[in-house]
Amino acid sequence: MVIVIIRVGILTAPHIDYELREHTFLLKNVRIGIGFHWDRHEDQEFEGQLEIKPTPNPFLKEGEPWEVAINTIELEDYLCSVISSEMSANSPMELLKAHAVISRSWAMRAIAKPNHEGYDVCADDHCQRYEGLRRMNERAVQAVRETAGQVLVNGESEICDCRYYKCCGGRSEIWRTCWEDIDVPYIQSVECPYCGRVSKQTLRLVLNDYDQETRDFHDWQVTYTEDELSEIIRSKSGIDFGQIIDLIPLHRGASGRIDKLRIVGSNRTEVIGKELTIRYALSRKCLYSSWFEINLSSLQGGAGGRPLWTLTGHGWGHGAGLCQIGAAQMATEGFTYEQILSHYYVGTRIGLAAK
Ligand SMILES: [Zn+2]
Ligand SMILES: [Zn+2]
Repeated sequence: MVIVIIRVGILTAPHIDYELREHTFLLKNVRIGIGFHWDRHEDQEFEGQLEIKPTPNPFLKEGEPWEVAINTIELEDYLCSVISSEMSANSPMELLKAHAVISRSWAMRAIAKPNHEGYDVCADDHCQRYEGLRRMNERAVQAVRETAGQVLVNGESEICDCRYYKCCGGRSEIWRTCWEDIDVPYIQSVECPYCGRVSKQTLRLVLNDYDQETRDFHDWQVTYTEDELSEIIRSKSGIDFGQIIDLIPLHRGASGRIDKLRIVGSNRTEVIGKELTIRYALSRKCLYSSWFEINLSSLQGGAGGRPLWTLTGHGWGHGAGLCQIGAAQMATEGFTYEQILSHYYVGTRIGLAAK
């Protein structure tokens, strides 16, 4: 097998605080889950090479340049960290192997066509989580070794763009609800009974520490007062709609995720989309998913009912491709990683990356 190298932009900051150790390096205050509900900072330790470079100030065009920490590492070593950052390294082996194959496939495409200027991938949820050595163990290494070089293939030889997310909520989504208006043949809307019957015990096993703070993600509800909702939409979209009068889903994807939403305000009306834009606009951080029903009711009790908005939703993430919690449940129920992959990526097969 040829050795593939990947360049990961781990952290961008005004000044990068790091510590070199014998065979590793420590980066301090790395921000993870950027913009999502688990957004936070932690110190992380990595293997491979570290390079610190100037990068344009993201806030001021003429401002002092910032710094970016770029880690150059062998793809197979990168994957050991990725799969144990995305899901716990204590997860069932067949889940870890399925994840190794999809994370490798996704990364190979990103190396061929980088997602960022100056490096191939970032280390956060925008690309794939890569949180260093702390969450890794020998089982993650075993899953990567036992699937060495394996990628998911569509048709003759196309390496699949393997998207994934935490929980579909019962049905997965198609590509165009989330990204470009194209049909990706292996990203179809498939039924997933698995994430709905996962036990608390399995969740404790398969989710990393900070992900365990997220509860009731298969079926969830968010409520806002009229003022709250108007204020959130104003601050998140940057548009002053005035008082929100109505939220009208104009289009839903195959799972039910909204990808076009009309926001009717007292000042103006706009249509927003796709799914992630909607999730950001309707939450102080980010809604679990864009698959929700909207209900406007009045508060009971007191003098006169004040309107209350309720969003009743399903799932955590964009929903296209593999459902991580569903896949974990499949592994728990005895499915192999090949079976898990062919369930979520229709018509694909496992192949070896070109030698
Ligand atoms: Zn990225
Ligand atoms: Zn699912």
